[in-house]
Amino acid sequence: LDVIRSVEPAVADAVASELADQRDSLKLIASENYASPAVLLTMGNWFSDKYAEGTVGRRFYAGCRHVDTVEELAARHARELFGARHAYVQPHSGIDANLVAFWAVLAQRVESPALERAGARGVNDLTDADWAALRRELGEQRMLGMSLDAGGHLTHGFRPNISGKMFDQRSYGTDQATGLLDYDVVRAAAREFRPLILLAGYSAYPRLVDFARMREIADEVGATLMVDMAHFAGLVAGRVLTGDHDPVAHAQIVTSTTHKSLRGPRGGLVLCDESLAEQVDRGCPMVLGGPLPHVMAAKAVALAEARRPDFPAYAEQVVANARALADGLLRRGARLVTGGTDNHLVLLDVSPHGLTGRQAEAALLAAGIVTNRNAVPRDPNGAWYTSGVRLGTPALTTRGMGPSEMDEIADLITRVLGATTPGATDSGRRSKVRFDLEPRVGEEVAARAADL
Ligand code: PLP
Repeated sequence: LDVIRSVEPAVADAVASELADQRDSLKLIASENYASPAVLLTMGNWFSDKYAEGTVGRRFYAGCRHVDTVEELAARHARELFGARHAYVQPHSGIDANLVAFWAVLAQRVESPALERAGARGVNDLTDADWAALRRELGEQRMLGMSLDAGGHLTHGFRPNISGKMFDQRSYGTDQATGLLDYDVVRAAAREFRPLILLAGYSAYPRLVDFARMREIADEVGATLMVDMAHFAGLVAGRVLTGDHDPVAHAQIVTSTTHKSLRGPRGGLVLCDESLAEQVDRGCPMVLGGPLPHVMAAKAVALAEARRPDFPAYAEQVVANARALADGLLRRGARLVTGGTDNHLVLLDVSPHGLTGRQAEAALLAAGIVTNRNAVPRDPNGAWYTSGVRLGTPALTTRGMGPSEMDEIADLITRVLGATTPGATDSGRRSKVRFDLEPRVGEEVAARAADL
């Protein structure tokens, strides 16, 4: 920090304060974790200065032999950890990994046949008319993904994201009564809509997904099954999700982030079978800028950590902790979407407390409990205010907490929300939100949180 402070003290102070915040609060954001010092240090070194467009052994820049070493190592660890035929570790984030995957499927299923029909080797050989027809055809492709309020992600074809502009999108939700995925409904939607891509995976669905069933549906309608395992990659790596729940065993293409339950550096990766490998490797420069060698090196370290014998115990503990948190909340009268959890996250409906998700998030933050507001299925408060908060256990499990701490946290959450009233200035849900946390409870909760 002294080196940073000698140049820009405000940044050094911000780093130190961030560390203090992360130590002093209970991090329950389901997409966050604590990467190891080895992972963090691998990101802060001279690899950061290197340009390495291209792939291992085929670069557009000289002097990439050490980048080749770390990229190949990260890809090998990813292949062996997840049992994948091919791994591409260049994506800078989960969004980028999804973009690479979308273009890979479009290239395989639409562009290549069009080039063949036109007798062209590449897009530059196409006549203007052929090119216009190809662009039309690309723009007409359909994607079927999980709806946002059922737990899907913005990148799964929704308007605020480029995927919603690239694809004609339709979504499947969850059953109104149970909150669970209904595969017959997914199948009916796929049969009617005939998507090019059937996309499975989520950010806020607290249950398991039957990827074998999803693949059957995709095959039936001639779609490519893509799974975005950004949230639960650590559970796949730790062999908690196996058999029908292992996305890599069933999907033609799988994307992930590396920084959530997988506990690596911020970044993404793509796994696929051989039929898509060539197209996936064209991610840079198709949709990515030059790879980040320091982050690929850190991915290699994190993936090596996930291949260690103790990682499955971590992944199992993440799920056991989520169950303990859910049980603790339920025992105290909470309403949970789907009534519980099978994975690393719990979706708490805060409307019985008379709060929006935004108010609950703020009240919990004031008590040292860091969460994020999240829509519940068919949320009347929309995606900004929401009616829920999402709670995840990967980070606190990394800090060594277990079921008894989860029960204590369930108690803290219940008491904070019970003591919170929407502020008088909150007319409806549209105005600025103010909450009144009873000072006595606030202090007590903060003190207890600090003890944990
Ligand atoms: N996919 C899913 C399912 C996610 O939950 C997220 C992030 O929350 C992403 C993709 C995007 O990841 P990133 O923020 O690294 O772009």
